[in-house]
Amino acid sequence: MPFDDRDGWIWLDGQFVPWRDAKIHVLTHALHYASSVFEGERIYEGRIFKLTEHTRRLFRSAELLDMTIPFTVEEIDAACRETGERMGLRDGYVRPFVWRGAEVMGVASKGSRVHAAVAAWEWPSYFDPEEKKKGIRIGRSKWRRPSPETIPSEAKAAGLYMICTLSKDAAEREGYADALMLDYRGYVAECTGANIFFVKDGVIHTPLPDCFLNGITRLTVIDLARWRGFDVVERHIRPEELADFTECFITGSAAEVTPVSEIGEHVFKPGNISLSLMDDYARLVRGALAMAT
Ligand code: PMP
Repeated sequence: MPFDDRDGWIWLDGQFVPWRDAKIHVLTHALHYASSVFEGERIYEGRIFKLTEHTRRLFRSAELLDMTIPFTVEEIDAACRETGERMGLRDGYVRPFVWRGAEVMGVASKGSRVHAAVAAWEWPSYFDPEEKKKGIRIGRSKWRRPSPETIPSEAKAAGLYMICTLSKDAAEREGYADALMLDYRGYVAECTGANIFFVKDGVIHTPLPDCFLNGITRLTVIDLARWRGFDVVERHIRPEELADFTECFITGSAAEVTPVSEIGEHVFKPGNISLSLMDDYARLVRGALAMAT
């Protein structure tokens, strides 16, 4: 079903409009110059997991792109909740986004208005559920996460996804589910829409998020793992080290906790740590696990 031809409602600049009428002009600044930031959230049993954390990140991303959102955090939170409710979603995905409009055309943005919208839809599993249990196969991307001096890499901004789309498309063409990206220094960074974790000798290792998104799921899983008594080491990881790890998994609001069975020539076994964190996360997001923090 194409995304512009569905039933339902989209919250657009403060009002609900019929799904098919939520349109923008072709000369929208964001479409030409990537002046756009967004969030991706999941609704579990009628509740958006970590809603306000996502909304705060949306505001931070907008600020990093010099955009002032003409709403408050509370208003965007309410818009997200109401969109999910209006769409009748007990389980689903919520996409709030903010962009510069069609008021001006050119690199400079002076005179443009900042718009905001929220859409929500059903989105069962990011990866094929059968493949997810066995562990997904990941290829290597030729693109590198850029230096924070090159781009505001802390923002969840459309422009940062150009190389993610190129990487994921290339990986899928080669039969992989996703791609691992290194950073500008050659360290292991993340996948195209998820953070990455490894296990060696019972210890969890994950790259330092100093040039890519410090995911909300990443932080949740680190808390979960430490609460379960595991050591979690955040550090720079060299690609040669992939050979030493026994387990690997990726995390993201859409990807949740997904075990990895292969990265190129390296093979991993979805083991106790990956599978128990996958299970803990699934229970936590549904309110079925009370984590003492
Ligand atoms: N990295 C990238 C590039 C992403 O798109 C995402 C998904 N938003 C993540 C990491 C994970 O972030 P989160 O756990 O906050 O969804």
